[in-house]
Amino acid sequence: MTTRDDEARGQAAGQGGREPVTAYIGLGANLGDAAAALATAVLALRALPDSELLGRSGMYRTAPVDASGPDYLNAVVALRTALPAEVLLDALQDIERAHGRERPYHHAPRTLDLDLLLYGDASIQTPRLVVPHPRLHERAFVLVPLAEIAPSVALPGRGAVADLLAGVAGQRIERLPS
Ligand code: AMP
Repeated sequence: MTTRDDEARGQAAGQGGREPVTAYIGLGANLGDAAAALATAVLALRALPDSELLGRSGMYRTAPVDASGPDYLNAVVALRTALPAEVLLDALQDIERAHGRERPYHHAPRTLDLDLLLYGDASIQTPRLVVPHPRLHERAFVLVPLAEIAPSVALPGRGAVADLLAGVAGQRIERLPS
């Protein structure tokens, strides 16, 4: 018997399963016109093949965590996608590059950062990809917008997103008017 988990794992490994999963993608920017970068990134995600944008959070202004530079703008989108996880990661990195993303050093300020937060209920560990994103549960700039659009989604082994918010209550985050 093939379960949804098996299919997600098959897709994660690039084995060509085509059953769509719901993926959550975190967006962040803190250089240049960050709001414009997030808006055009959402358009690019909407245009991905075999994918449908299910929803997006509002935009949040957040303090840099383990990073330098000005405040970040962050958001999270939900994408129903039949793309295998590593193909989706390739697409995210293409979108980053199209926004002039450079990686001069770890945690450098960035014109656009896209993270694959969740890919269905798959747990993935490859040299290129760790899902759920390893720091997801400890970052308000991811958890708060994720909870806005998917409060009951579960992080494997950690419970529902909404129940993790108390743990990041000390981090500065402000929802911008829509
Ligand atoms: P960053 O500088 O934070 O954008 O990290 C990018 C690097 O993290 C790339 O080399 C990716 O291959 C790797 N990576 C591992 N897991 C993920 C993930 N879930 N989402 C995005 N990038 C990831």
